[in-house]
Amino acid sequence: MEIIPGVHKIDGVAGANCYLVTSGQEMVLIDAGMRGSSKILANYLKKLGKNLSDIKYIFITHADIDHVGGAAEMKKTTGAKLVIHAGDAGVLAGTDKGRNLKGLMRLLKLLSPLMQAAPVQADIVLKENTDIAGYKIISTPGHSEGSISIYIPGKVIFVGDALRSDAAGNLKRPSKMLAADMVEAKKSVQEIAGLDFDTLLCGHGAPVKGDAAARVKELLANWQ
Ligand SMILES: [Zn+2]
Repeated sequence: MEIIPGVHKIDGVAGANCYLVTSGQEMVLIDAGMRGSSKILANYLKKLGKNLSDIKYIFITHADIDHVGGAAEMKKTTGAKLVIHAGDAGVLAGTDKGRNLKGLMRLLKLLSPLMQAAPVQADIVLKENTDIAGYKIISTPGHSEGSISIYIPGKVIFVGDALRSDAAGNLKRPSKMLAADMVEAKKSVQEIAGLDFDTLLCGHGAPVKGDAAARVKELLANWQ
């Protein structure tokens, strides 16, 4: 589905939303969904008349399984450079278990074989905010230590799970249950609120379209 010109959601990918940007300097993906996502991606690209090898970077907003289950296969099939923040790189590589999830989430992770990702080394491990091919990569920790947002000034921001939206595109604060640090998470939302974008795309839920930056400010104003 093309959300705004040049920004797509790859329909059919399981787990978190997987986005494709075709309008930038380079074609990029944001997040990789669950295992098996590369086939779905290949079909989607075919319909657009594009190839897997056209994708140059895969930005990983954070290393939760629903965002990185397809990362290893997508890196392999596209040849793109996999980009992640240092805070989550160890989880992606399988050398770090990540933050302590509580209760149900922890149990689900243990039980479901689908919830296991093939470990993969990132090509670019970020320690600070940076620009890659015209995309601004901003550290927005709290949901996890290494959570990042990908920002195209004046246009769109991809926030991973730093914020959530519902099926109607109404913005919601990040999950407390899944947060590594809720104080950091709020600071990150404040950081996002200071940016200029019309569309905000979360890891879960529908697009937040039309003066989305104002929606983030409203959310903060009502944050108890
Ligand atoms: Zn998620």
